[in-house]
Amino acid sequence: LVQLGMPTRAVETTCAYCGVGCTFRAEVQGAGEETRVVRMTPLKAGGANEGHSCVKGRFAYGYAAHDDRQLRPMVRESIEDEWRVVSWEEAIGRVAEGFRRIQERHGVGAVGGISSSRCTNEEVYVVQKMVRAAFGNNNIDTCARVCHSPTGYGLNQTLGTSAGTQDFESVDHTDVMLLIGANPTDAHPVFGSRMKQRLRKGAQIIVADPRRIDLVRSPHVQAAHHLPLLPGSNVAFINAMAHVVVTEGLHDEEFLRDRCEDVDAYLEFARDEGNSPEATAEATGLDPEQVRAAARLYASAPNASIYYGLGVTEHSQGSTMVMGLANLAMLTGNIGRRGVGVNPLRGQNNVQGSCDMGSFPHELPGYRHISRPEVRAIYEDLWQVRLDPEPGLRIPNMFDAALGGTFRGLFVHGEDIAQSDPNLQHVRAALSAMELVVVQDLFLNETARYAHVFLPGSSFLEKDGTFTNAERRLGRVRPIMPSKVGKDEWQIVCEIATAMGFPMSYGSASQIMDEIAATTPTFAGVSFERLDREGSMQWPVNEAAPSGTPTMHVEEFVRGRGRLVPTVFVPTTERTNRRFPLILTTGRILTQYNVGAQTRRTANSTWHPEDVLELHPSDAELRGIRSGDTVELSSRVGTTGLTALVSDRMQPGVVYTTFHHPVTGANVVTTENSDWATNCPEYKVTAVQVAVANAR
Ligand code: SF4
Repeated sequence: LVQLGMPTRAVETTCAYCGVGCTFRAEVQGAGEETRVVRMTPLKAGGANEGHSCVKGRFAYGYAAHDDRQLRPMVRESIEDEWRVVSWEEAIGRVAEGFRRIQERHGVGAVGGISSSRCTNEEVYVVQKMVRAAFGNNNIDTCARVCHSPTGYGLNQTLGTSAGTQDFESVDHTDVMLLIGANPTDAHPVFGSRMKQRLRKGAQIIVADPRRIDLVRSPHVQAAHHLPLLPGSNVAFINAMAHVVVTEGLHDEEFLRDRCEDVDAYLEFARDEGNSPEATAEATGLDPEQVRAAARLYASAPNASIYYGLGVTEHSQGSTMVMGLANLAMLTGNIGRRGVGVNPLRGQNNVQGSCDMGSFPHELPGYRHISRPEVRAIYEDLWQVRLDPEPGLRIPNMFDAALGGTFRGLFVHGEDIAQSDPNLQHVRAALSAMELVVVQDLFLNETARYAHVFLPGSSFLEKDGTFTNAERRLGRVRPIMPSKVGKDEWQIVCEIATAMGFPMSYGSASQIMDEIAATTPTFAGVSFERLDREGSMQWPVNEAAPSGTPTMHVEEFVRGRGRLVPTVFVPTTERTNRRFPLILTTGRILTQYNVGAQTRRTANSTWHPEDVLELHPSDAELRGIRSGDTVELSSRVGTTGLTALVSDRMQPGVVYTTFHHPVTGANVVTTENSDWATNCPEYKVTAVQVAVANAR
């Protein structure tokens, strides 16, 4: 078999990329360090993907074996110095000693950590534990800060928990989908295909998106309505939808009276003429009649569902918009059964899990506020340490404090904040100002340029643990080989905590999950043993739901009654003017994944080898730009160069790019504006100018 290039054994595991969380059979040859993946085959029995996969997942194994992997720890005195390879003992000692010294001189709160939505639940759990117990503060945040933190806030405020309401199978029972701010065929391809299948069987779709994405029109798909709303006008749009529903009597009075609170105040708000499609048309750029028709279609469907992505959350009113979507679902009784609901499409494979595991500065695992003494007591008793009751710093606050001199040491776990975060000049200045930056990653990424200690990490093919996908489904990640760096990532974190004076150790990742289950009510029934025996499960898994929970809020909302929140539209402060007359919005493409650190090191590297700037033919003509020209893209905060692509998928006045490549660095131009509630950056609205730099 080996000579024929055939696999000799297979291991079932979960994709390392997007929040669909497809399950695969990794078919391999060899054993130990000589293990080699022959192919990845999607599993028919996989809860999320039913035998399907996409071009990213199939080739993911490529980056795990890439020569760029750094397999040994390295240190250096300053970021100008060359890296020096050291032993694990020296590297961990250096990290612990460095953080301790900073805290002695500048206080307990002068250090913190960032956890990763690409790491397992067990790894995220130990990182937040290290920060809270060994660092002694709550300066722990997650990269979800820059994507779905408004989902956490908005759904918690309205429905009572920070998670999507349905499983993926629910889409097979929907009659009308409202898709807003998401491009599933590129960013969540397997689920995008499932949506298309449902559309072919007669369901209808309303697409609210500034671009003419694939689900607007493609072979066998024709959206009932494409609403090309202007970037930054989401809340005005959703209020207009609610206005039509309420003023035309399409709301579900019985559902509202039986299950919701603050109903009258919300109905009065929605009825206000200022929220009508006509009054909001200037802000949204939409035809009022089309908005009315879309609202009628959604509200009169037997089962109407909402699917959304970062085009909802990455705005100055991201949290408001999430609440607006929940309002619309409650208003029409579209919650608590199959085929309906409010469903965030999560970007990274474990965004849901990293939030569930307590890596926000104000919440312990299971979304319980750090100020609650009875919740702190659970961990204080178990960990034998006193926890700070005050929320810690969020990522942007860490950067500001670093520039102010009060925050000096950062542990960055599996994230590339020097490429992914907005206004990179500010991020890089903050990193440069710190005394100790520790990066744990597979590759020397952009953030590692500012690091003093580099700790090598393990790929998903070397990990034992769980990921939680966008439908709250915990799937097993199983190692096909031992870690190439000699230690599991959770082990490394435990050793840092121990060296700092807080002993932390586990015999296995399974033991970490046992601790999570023992301390977090929504995970009480989860164990590796059950997942291995019964397959993936959707939380809550506990006494009330022993087999898990495909649909949430069935009889009552997690918070008891659903809360309707008046969502007043406040325009972003980012405005176009004569100097910056266009709006830039950013997103993803099918073959690449986020900052591209992984996909650029797989077979996918040959597709979409650079980020391009899409612009409408009229904007291109005005500036003398043709496809293939190099253009200069500038905003109030920075300038970068990109190749132009003239495309009628864009609307006039709006340009679009991705951020998969560090060279072009789209985030050099994105601003520091952020969501009022969560500080999620407003990646989707930047006023820019575009000019030809080099004609092709
Ligand atoms: Fe992986 Fe997402 Fe593609 Fe599934 S859809 S194979 S989880 S990237």
